[in-house]
Amino acid sequence: MNQELLIKARERDVKARKAAEQLLELKSIELYNSMSKLAKANLELEASLAREKELGQLKSSFVAVASHQFRTPLAIIQSNSELLEMMNRMTVKQSDEKYSKVSKRITDAVSTMTDLIEDMLSLGKSTSGNVGYYPEDVHLIGFLEKLVKEFNLIQQDNRMIEFSSEGKVRLVYLDVKLLKHSLTNLINNAFKYSKGKENPKLDLIFRSKEVILIVKDYGIGIPVEEQSHLFEPFFRANNVTEIQGTGLGLNIAKEYVEINKGAISVSSILGEGSCFKISFQI
Ligand code: ADP
Repeated sequence: MNQELLIKARERDVKARKAAEQLLELKSIELYNSMSKLAKANLELEASLAREKELGQLKSSFVAVASHQFRTPLAIIQSNSELLEMMNRMTVKQSDEKYSKVSKRITDAVSTMTDLIEDMLSLGKSTSGNVGYYPEDVHLIGFLEKLVKEFNLIQQDNRMIEFSSEGKVRLVYLDVKLLKHSLTNLINNAFKYSKGKENPKLDLIFRSKEVILIVKDYGIGIPVEEQSHLFEPFFRANNVTEIQGTGLGLNIAKEYVEINKGAISVSSILGEGSCFKISFQI
């Protein structure tokens, strides 16, 4: 009898040990899972901290470049208004031509500052995620014909942008306001950087799975070694120092194309012209 009790007690012991071992195994698996979750969360946290740091550095360098950009037109306004004052004090009357030269420098600097403020506001909106995205089915031909008309009405050198379309026409689902903003920047550049040359062109191409918009000009072109920087804020190529600009338009155009789920690219030959391409999957 005692022997039997002893065996049963042993069996109970073995069962209890096994149950305890299983529990331990389960607990260690749980522990392992929580530890790997913790390690993953830690990695994500480190990555997001690094991103925040990088963003912070980017913001401070942006502010530094932006304030530098404002200083140049302000210095021009300051020095030319001092010049005007000096000319007024002179006993010998200065020519009208001299006065209008000085006042033109002031007007140009004011317009540079206005463009800078407008561009920076647009960029600020998009980087802080405050640009609305309201896509709808758009009839691109009607929209582009209207846009081209608006541009052609305001050109002062009789040039115009020539519009053409090819492929099977379809409605395209996108935010038309954002597209207008992006295209306006590209078309303005096409006119600005091709003064005295052939008319710029706007082509709309429907392919089976994508729609492509091409803004092409026959102007000064972009040095090949600088093309990879074009979409960076404040970047201006070394062949445009004589032409007014902020270096922000393409950056904004790219931001807005990307919010619209599209892609933008450039190809250009120095002295022959440039070609900007926006594409959307359909
Ligand atoms: P900007 O106000 O200087 O025109 P953008 O951001 O629109 O600023 O363009 C950045 C730079 O890209 C320009 O300064 C110029 O060097 C170059 N660029 C853009 N579009 C053209 C073009 N159509 N032809 C030649 N250069 C261009």
